[in-house]
Amino acid sequence: MAENSGIEWTHHTYNPWIGCTRVSPACDHCYAEAWDRRGMQQKQSRWGPRATRTRTKTRPNLRKWDRKAAELSVRYRVFCASLADIGDNHRSIEAPWRRDLVADIRAYQNLDFLLLSKRPQNMPKLYPDLMEDWPVNAWMGASTENREEMLRRGEALAALPAQITFWSAEPLVGDLGPIPQEILPSWVITGGESGAQYRHADPDWFRSLRDQCAAAGVPFLFKQWEGRDQKEIKAKGRELDGVIHDGYPQPLAA
Ligand code: SF4
Repeated sequence: MAENSGIEWTHHTYNPWIGCTRVSPACDHCYAEAWDRRGMQQKQSRWGPRATRTRTKTRPNLRKWDRKAAELSVRYRVFCASLADIGDNHRSIEAPWRRDLVADIRAYQNLDFLLLSKRPQNMPKLYPDLMEDWPVNAWMGASTENREEMLRRGEALAALPAQITFWSAEPLVGDLGPIPQEILPSWVITGGESGAQYRHADPDWFRSLRDQCAAAGVPFLFKQWEGRDQKEIKAKGRELDGVIHDGYPQPLAA
């Protein structure tokens, strides 16, 4: 169970900065933007091309998480980021913020950092040091909410030197269709949309993804059905055709 995160597939979350700009249909009901709007009251939003991103005031205690993982002989997954996009190339994001993130990844070898982006094509320019020497505990992910984004981001993701790659096909808003073998990642997470304005996902879209992952030997995690709120989503359970899919890739010991 996540310690500082309600997200099923991670133990912790880590936001080096906060703020972003919407880029694709998966952003339509961005929970982070809504969270920011609620918390900022009269102050300026951090969302949009003209909005300034801000450095996170309270840094997570990565040292503590790392030590605990070592003590328990487990690996903790650290999702980065839930309130930003690490591939965001906005001018207000300062180079040292990115350098600190990479330094943390290299320093805490008992943690697997799950870098998820809707802009994987920006990674080479933004993180040249990662490109030169990509650590095995940096898993790189791309959001693939429909076929168009799967093809576009999947290709950019496959071009990166990360050894473990993943897709977050969530919220799934369209059929991904046949997946080109050359862009298949190491892991696929999928699920329906949550919130009052959730979009309906056809169960066959999930089935197709499940079956293609099974045929290719790719671990598959079905996180949730769609719903207005957590109560409704929990009531629907996590089964897809009577089976809970909780696949994860095998971490590569650093
Ligand atoms: S990329 Fe993520 S954080 Fe940024 S607007 Fe889209 S959903 Fe929100």
